[in-house]
Amino acid sequence: MRSHDRSHEDFLQACSVMPGGVNSPVRAAGNVGCEPVFYDRAAGAHVRDVDGNDYVDFIGSWGPMILGHRPPEVLEAVRAQLERGTSFGAPCEAETELAREVCRLVPGAERVRMVSSGTEATMTAVRLARGVTGRPGIVKFAGNYHGHSDALLAGAGSGVATLGIPSTPGVTRGCVQDTIVVPYNDLSATRRAFESHTGQVAAVIVEPVAANMGVVAPGDGFLEGLRELCDDAGALLIFDEVITGFRLAPGGAQEKFGVRADLCTLGKVIGGGFPAAAVAGPARYLDELAPTGPVYQAGTLSGNPVAMVAGLQMLRLLQDAGTYERLDVLGAALAGGMGEAIARTGAPVSFSHVGSIGTLFFSPTPPTNFSDVRRCDTDAFARWYRYVTDAGFLVAPSQYEALFVSLSHTEDEISALCSTTEEALRVIYG
Ligand code: PMP
Repeated sequence: MRSHDRSHEDFLQACSVMPGGVNSPVRAAGNVGCEPVFYDRAAGAHVRDVDGNDYVDFIGSWGPMILGHRPPEVLEAVRAQLERGTSFGAPCEAETELAREVCRLVPGAERVRMVSSGTEATMTAVRLARGVTGRPGIVKFAGNYHGHSDALLAGAGSGVATLGIPSTPGVTRGCVQDTIVVPYNDLSATRRAFESHTGQVAAVIVEPVAANMGVVAPGDGFLEGLRELCDDAGALLIFDEVITGFRLAPGGAQEKFGVRADLCTLGKVIGGGFPAAAVAGPARYLDELAPTGPVYQAGTLSGNPVAMVAGLQMLRLLQDAGTYERLDVLGAALAGGMGEAIARTGAPVSFSHVGSIGTLFFSPTPPTNFSDVRRCDTDAFARWYRYVTDAGFLVAPSQYEALFVSLSHTEDEISALCSTTEEALRVIYG
């Protein structure tokens, strides 16, 4: 067993000043019977904890570290910016450069509003859709997570699902009365939602690949069907690409699946490891935001120069030839290795992946919606989590999250996670 004495001490100290010792609930790892590991440093695909244990990191800060930790070019850009200023609360050139890059890469993007978190991005996109259409209704999918703004905390995945919180105290009925929750991958239910709210739906917001109930791919025709339903009803289609943006393809899921969204929310990768996120879309919608339009949105640290130069460098590095092919190769290696581990052990588990994100589901067939995921054996998941973590692999402490592969991972590291998983499955089901 690895020693976690110092992490334990740090956790006790943290609990004395922060709720649950953490600033974001899924880090707490209580649902898998663990305490959080306190990180000390990271490089490439590896992190070291405060007790000196090394791990191969398959969390990657939940998405941003697509190149691995501390890419030298990003650090260089950040260092140079630190010498010039860390926050101006006024325009800087890096904002325009990054926005221009987003417009070049993301289908349909002519304008970008920078914000600091994915939560702000989706909240802004929803407000904008309501402002533009003059309608109140938002259709969202059970198990999709779009951050923690009130209107979107209904039927949410990620930490809300992990902690089994059915509805969050503090979110009033009024805040979610216009949020219509339907099952993921269910076009008929979505059509019925439109029919029972004729002329009332401002937008459908969707994770084009769900990654907050584990990774669940969109079924054939699902995204195309949403496009059609939105067009028929005059509603906006919002792709929440906070995870998939710049990861599945340079232009995210819109590019990968060839379906155009009206608004797209971006986060994680766009900040290069610093707090940045964005809403992108056509000028006719984005220009409705203040100051050009009446839909208000603002932020002291929005377009922060350090985050902007980090994100810009990150996006440039991702455009190196072969980047996305390599991510897909590594993702396929993970899926292939997990598939073999499952076949050899005969364990009642399945592996789902899209590109470089994937999830080991403790259910015999891959889930297609939130109800399926809810039937997974989370006790067995927790045993797998503890086994692989103790063997030196950092994976998300919840069945409702993804494994993230980065360009820093090697095939050997991926295959080591798969063989350790095979051992774990033998122990759990042996
Ligand atoms: N949307 C999606 C799809 C996400 O995965 C997340 C966070 N994991 C968010 C929105 C919220 O982003 P943030 O945590 O930066 O507020």
